[in-house]
Amino acid sequence: MKLLSVIVPCFNEEQALPLFYQELTRVLAGIKNYRFELIFVDDGSRDRTLDILKELAGGDRRVRYLSFSRNFGKEAAIYAGLEHSTGDYVVLMDADLQDPPSLLPDMLRALDTEGYDSAATRRVTRQGEPPVRSFFARLFYKLINRISDVEIMDGARDYRMMTRKMTNAVLDLKEYNRFSKGIFGWVGFRTRWFAYENRNRVAGETKWSFWKLLAYSIEGIIAFSTAPLSIAIFVGLLCFGLAFAMILFIVIKTLLFGDPVGGWPSLTCIVLLVGGVQLFCTGIIGKYLSKTYLETKNRPKYILREDNLEAADHNSNRKESCHA
Ligand code: UDP
Ligand code: MG
Repeated sequence: MKLLSVIVPCFNEEQALPLFYQELTRVLAGIKNYRFELIFVDDGSRDRTLDILKELAGGDRRVRYLSFSRNFGKEAAIYAGLEHSTGDYVVLMDADLQDPPSLLPDMLRALDTEGYDSAATRRVTRQGEPPVRSFFARLFYKLINRISDVEIMDGARDYRMMTRKMTNAVLDLKEYNRFSKGIFGWVGFRTRWFAYENRNRVAGETKWSFWKLLAYSIEGIIAFSTAPLSIAIFVGLLCFGLAFAMILFIVIKTLLFGDPVGGWPSLTCIVLLVGGVQLFCTGIIGKYLSKTYLETKNRPKYILREDNLEAADHNSNRKESCHA
């Protein structure tokens, strides 16, 4: 029987987790001819998340948990889950039931019988989300698809099922600054898309503020496009051309008509403008440089504090794969 690994990043999800587990196991019970392992990654939660995970693991031998030493972020949690998964198929899900488990049978079918390597999901509506957030989200997808080589689907969720082959390909991208939506596109493979209406989280609160999302989108652009660097060059050239024309103009004007003093306000404006452009461009370069700096440090993407992997090992492919 094939094994499906369900990976769930959890950060302060004490309220949503019991509901999620209930709904997930209900759907899994209806899927025949597969074995399951449920990998919950506690991303340094400060509430009872880990206790709840331990309770779940006590009552269900398919449950394993990894717990981080601090909050490393969802991307790190996803990576840890993928790294410790042993399934023939692997699926990533949020803990707040915004990713409906009812899609799982269809996704499995796409991989198992329709020959796809990946079943991905996107939401077609964004109702229930603040309008400003939707506006910027749309803008982000338009922008990144224009300036980057990988295609990133508008409204794509991280809710995605993959074959072992694709999972290993994703794991082979070992970068520290991870942007999964881009990574999934970058590795390629055949993907079937499932669309569904947005739903609100069942309990608890979103962990993403507007500013956190904005920072994340900048990460995404830096990680998958070098266009900002080209923009810096372009703006620099433009300023240079403009300044050159102005110098010519002033020199000729002075030679012909003398030099009446004046014009210092316009000069101040120009100095400010050019200074601003320079700082902006230096900032862009600095951003890339800092990413490079972080990558060269080669730090681990996460640190485990505790887990129950050994205790729960009998159900997984781990032993078989060790001997293989
Ligand atoms: N999450 C995480 N680490 C973080 C932030 C979020 O593991 O630092 C998890 C969170 O527990 C949830 C998923 O990532 O399972 C999505 O988070 P959330 O629902 O808050 O984001 P939203 O759906 O509002 O974009
Ligand atoms: Mg959510």
